Amino acid sequence: MIRSIAEADLHGKRVLIRSDFNIPIENGEIRSFKKINDSLPTIEYVIEEGGIPILMSHLGRPKEGQRGGDFTLKIVADYYRGALGFDVIFVEDFTSNMAREIVEDAQPGQMIFFDNLRYYKAEEKDDPAFARRLATYADIYCNNAFGTAHRAHASTHAITKFFPKDKYAGFLVLKEIEYFENVLKTPQRPFTAIIGGAKISGKIDVIRSLFDKCDNIIIGGGMMFTFYKALGYEIGKSLLEEDKIEMAQEIMDEAKKRNIKFYLPTDVVQAEAFSNDASHEIVKADAMSTDMIGLDIGEETIQTYDKVIRNSKTVLWNGPMGVFEMPNFARGTLALARALGKCTQFGGITIVGGGDSARAISQLNYESQVSHVSTGGGASLKFLEGKELPGITALESE
Ligand code: AMP
Repeated sequence: MIRSIAEADLHGKRVLIRSDFNIPIENGEIRSFKKINDSLPTIEYVIEEGGIPILMSHLGRPKEGQRGGDFTLKIVADYYRGALGFDVIFVEDFTSNMAREIVEDAQPGQMIFFDNLRYYKAEEKDDPAFARRLATYADIYCNNAFGTAHRAHASTHAITKFFPKDKYAGFLVLKEIEYFENVLKTPQRPFTAIIGGAKISGKIDVIRSLFDKCDNIIIGGGMMFTFYKALGYEIGKSLLEEDKIEMAQEIMDEAKKRNIKFYLPTDVVQAEAFSNDASHEIVKADAMSTDMIGLDIGEETIQTYDKVIRNSKTVLWNGPMGVFEMPNFARGTLALARALGKCTQFGGITIVGGGDSARAISQLNYESQVSHVSTGGGASLKFLEGKELPGITALESE
């Protein structure tokens, strides 16, 4: 059983909240506030209940000894203090003696913010001594970092052993679990899964596990060309996973056997080069030129996919339909984001996996138009594959 932070007695307690502030920062500016905003309800709740939150997170992948610059969480702490008005105490090195004094002196109403956990190599090693050290700062542990739940790290996994009776899930983690577990276990039908992105290899297990659950599978992105190759189509210079052609055929055969509607794009945007400025045109799926590269789904495909999505009661989306980072090849991805918005409007449940699909939704400002945008790319994929998430399992208590 996983207990919600709402079940804890927080009054006067120090609460270590493993958060996910691994956010895009460019030139000293925060590029996406989603994870910050989604973390807020838990933090506010702890403060309202008289607890003292101690926030900890990782940010990027600093190398041994690398500190500050792009890796410091100070920018996030400053945002909580400035824009959100919290009384924030930022701690650069939580292992210092001064840090202990600061934490001990903190009063309800205040909030402690530890800098990047990955400054310490012990974090990624799931080191129990490191976890114990973190644990000594608090009475209660709360995991609110769905984005790292698929990894067994000291702050998500080893640490839970030091809070056998006082470990809880934050509201963000609970919401993610609810969508991925409950909604997907008993989806309203028709249930459509949209799988895109660069390669089949990263999504194979997800496609397989979705075979047990969905009515329609929609394919797009770079991976579609390996399916085309299996069908004997010319794919020019498009992305191909030579060693996955057979697997692509197996997937299509399996879908047929199970009566699942398997949609491949019927037309494609082919370009002269992998560049936004390259001249491009839409051609039928089986009419690509040898010297061209496929970078997006075509107009006819958009129409078909749009209809399937709008007629669905549950939609799950993972991976873009094309190279959406280039405006000229973002059309398919953005059109699908809009279709998801429409489906939601008509009562459908729409879930967007983290990573690039979440980025596309946010690029369109469509986050509020869908039921749920996950904060975890890798974690949501693992969940969909039916695999265990160590950070979630570790929260289980009798
Ligand atoms: P993934 O991380 O597997 O979801 O893949 C996301 C990436 O796939 C994005 O960076 C897209 O630009 C890329 N992608 C989508 N469609 C294509 C395509 N047709 N050719 C090459 N890359 C693509």
